[in-house]
Amino acid sequence: MKEVAGKCLCGEVTFRVCGAPVELHACHCSMCRQQNGGSAFIGLHTAEGVKLKKTDGLTWYQASEHGDRGFCKTCGATLFWRMQGEEKDFSVSVGTLAETQGLKLTSHIFTDEAPHYYTLPDDAPHKTGAQVLNEFIESQKHV
Ligand SMILES: [Zn+2]
Ligand SMILES: [Zn+2]
Repeated sequence: MKEVAGKCLCGEVTFRVCGAPVELHACHCSMCRQQNGGSAFIGLHTAEGVKLKKTDGLTWYQASEHGDRGFCKTCGATLFWRMQGEEKDFSVSVGTLAETQGLKLTSHIFTDEAPHYYTLPDDAPHKTGAQVLNEFIESQKHV
Protein backbone atom coordinates (compact mmCIF):
# COMPACT_ATOMS: atom_id res chain seq x y z
CA MET A 1 0.00 0.00 0.00
CA LYS A 2 1.70 3.20 -1.17
CA GLU A 3 -1.08 5.81 -1.04
CA VAL A 4 -4.73 5.22 -0.31
CA ALA A 5 -7.52 7.77 -0.59
CA GLY A 6 -9.70 8.55 2.40
CA LYS A 7 -12.69 10.80 2.94
CA CYS A 8 -15.43 11.67 5.37
CA LEU A 9 -19.03 10.70 4.71
CA CYS A 10 -19.99 13.99 2.99
CA GLY A 11 -16.69 14.59 1.15
CA GLU A 12 -15.75 17.93 2.73
CA VAL A 13 -12.59 16.32 4.05
CA THR A 14 -10.40 14.28 1.70
CA PHE A 15 -6.86 13.01 2.21
CA ARG A 16 -4.41 10.27 1.37
CA VAL A 17 -2.60 7.93 3.74
CA CYS A 18 0.98 7.38 2.63
CA GLY A 19 3.53 4.61 3.07
CA ALA A 20 3.36 1.11 4.43
CA PRO A 21 0.90 0.28 7.21
CA VAL A 22 2.64 0.26 10.61
CA GLU A 23 -0.13 -0.40 13.13
CA LEU A 24 -3.88 -0.87 13.20
CA HIS A 25 -5.22 -0.43 16.72
CA ALA A 26 -8.70 -0.85 18.06
CA CYS A 27 -8.86 1.63 20.94
CA HIS A 28 -11.54 0.84 23.51
CA CYS A 29 -10.90 3.83 25.80
CA SER A 30 -13.86 5.77 27.15
CA MET A 31 -13.05 8.88 25.06
CA CYS A 32 -12.97 6.96 21.77
CA ARG A 33 -16.22 5.24 22.62
CA GLN A 34 -17.85 8.52 23.61
CA GLN A 35 -16.78 10.14 20.34
CA ASN A 36 -17.90 7.15 18.26
CA GLY A 37 -21.22 6.55 19.96
CA GLY A 38 -20.20 3.37 21.78
CA SER A 39 -17.72 1.54 19.56
CA ALA A 40 -13.93 1.39 19.47
CA PHE A 41 -11.83 3.74 17.33
CA ILE A 42 -9.97 1.63 14.77
CA GLY A 43 -6.98 3.70 13.77
CA LEU A 44 -4.33 3.10 11.11
CA HIS A 45 -0.78 4.44 11.35
CA THR A 46 1.30 4.43 8.16
CA ALA A 47 5.02 5.02 7.68
CA GLU A 48 4.63 8.41 5.97
CA GLY A 49 1.43 9.65 7.54
CA VAL A 50 -1.37 11.69 5.99
CA LYS A 51 -1.51 14.21 3.17
CA LEU A 52 -4.57 16.41 3.62
CA LYS A 53 -6.33 17.40 0.36
CA LYS A 54 -9.68 19.03 1.09
CA THR A 55 -10.08 20.42 4.60
CA ASP A 56 -13.32 22.47 4.37
CA GLY A 57 -15.02 20.37 7.03
CA LEU A 58 -11.98 19.44 9.14
CA THR A 59 -12.18 20.48 12.77
CA TRP A 60 -9.74 19.55 15.53
CA TYR A 61 -11.02 19.03 19.05
CA GLN A 62 -8.48 19.05 21.85
CA ALA A 63 -9.83 16.15 23.89
CA SER A 64 -7.00 15.79 26.41
CA GLU A 65 -3.67 17.36 27.30
CA HIS A 66 -1.93 15.02 24.83
CA GLY A 67 -4.26 14.43 21.93
CA ASP A 68 -6.45 16.11 19.34
CA ARG A 69 -9.35 14.45 17.57
CA GLY A 70 -10.13 15.43 13.99
CA PHE A 71 -13.68 15.18 12.67
CA CYS A 72 -15.87 16.60 9.91
CA LYS A 73 -18.04 19.44 11.15
CA THR A 74 -20.65 18.79 8.44
CA CYS A 75 -21.23 15.03 8.55
CA GLY A 76 -19.70 14.24 11.95
CA ALA A 77 -17.34 11.53 10.69
CA THR A 78 -14.54 10.54 13.06
CA LEU A 79 -11.34 10.98 11.05
CA PHE A 80 -8.07 11.35 12.96
CA TRP A 81 -6.30 11.18 16.28
CA ARG A 82 -2.96 12.97 16.68
CA MET A 83 -0.50 13.98 19.37
CA GLN A 84 -0.98 17.69 19.85
CA GLY A 85 0.81 19.72 17.19
CA GLU A 86 1.58 16.72 14.98
CA GLU A 87 1.21 17.73 11.32
CA LYS A 88 0.88 14.42 9.46
CA ASP A 89 1.55 11.43 11.69
CA PHE A 90 -2.11 10.79 12.46
CA SER A 91 -3.98 7.69 13.47
CA VAL A 92 -6.62 7.47 10.73
CA SER A 93 -10.09 6.05 11.21
CA VAL A 94 -9.84 2.95 9.01
CA GLY A 95 -13.48 3.15 7.92
CA THR A 96 -12.72 6.30 5.90
CA LEU A 97 -10.35 4.54 3.49
CA ALA A 98 -11.17 3.48 -0.06
CA GLU A 99 -9.00 0.35 0.16
CA THR A 100 -8.33 -1.85 3.16
CA GLN A 101 -7.14 -5.10 1.55
CA GLY A 102 -4.33 -6.73 3.49
CA LEU A 103 -4.92 -4.71 6.66
CA LYS A 104 -5.27 -6.67 9.85
CA LEU A 105 -5.68 -5.50 13.42
CA THR A 106 -2.34 -5.42 15.30
CA SER A 107 -3.71 -4.79 18.81
CA HIS A 108 -6.66 -3.99 21.03
CA ILE A 109 -5.61 -1.12 23.28
CA PHE A 110 -6.98 0.39 26.48
CA THR A 111 -8.63 -2.98 27.07
CA ASP A 112 -8.95 -2.14 30.76
CA GLU A 113 -11.46 0.56 29.74
CA ALA A 114 -13.46 -1.71 27.42
CA PRO A 115 -17.17 -1.73 28.25
CA HIS A 116 -19.31 -4.61 29.47
CA TYR A 117 -21.63 -4.48 26.46
CA TYR A 118 -19.27 -6.19 24.00
CA THR A 119 -16.67 -8.95 24.21
CA LEU A 120 -13.16 -8.33 22.95
CA PRO A 121 -12.11 -10.80 20.27
CA ASP A 122 -8.75 -12.58 20.49
CA ASP A 123 -7.74 -11.67 16.92
CA ALA A 124 -4.88 -9.45 18.15
CA PRO A 125 -2.92 -8.88 21.39
CA HIS A 126 -4.65 -7.00 24.21
CA LYS A 127 -2.91 -4.05 25.93
CA THR A 128 -4.11 -2.00 28.87
CA GLY A 129 -3.82 1.78 28.92
CA ALA A 130 -0.80 1.53 31.26
CA GLN A 131 0.96 -0.86 28.86
CA VAL A 132 0.34 1.47 25.91
CA LEU A 133 1.72 4.47 27.83
CA ASN A 134 4.80 2.51 28.96
CA GLU A 135 5.52 1.41 25.39
CA PHE A 136 5.18 5.00 24.23
CA ILE A 137 7.59 6.27 26.90
CA GLU A 138 10.10 3.52 25.98
CA SER A 139 9.84 4.38 22.28
CA GLN A 140 10.61 8.05 23.00
CA LYS A 141 13.84 7.07 24.80
CA HIS A 142 15.16 5.48 21.61
CA VAL A 143 14.43 8.39 19.25
ZN1 LIG B 1 -17.98 15.26 6.09
ZN1 LIG C 1 -9.09 5.63 22.64
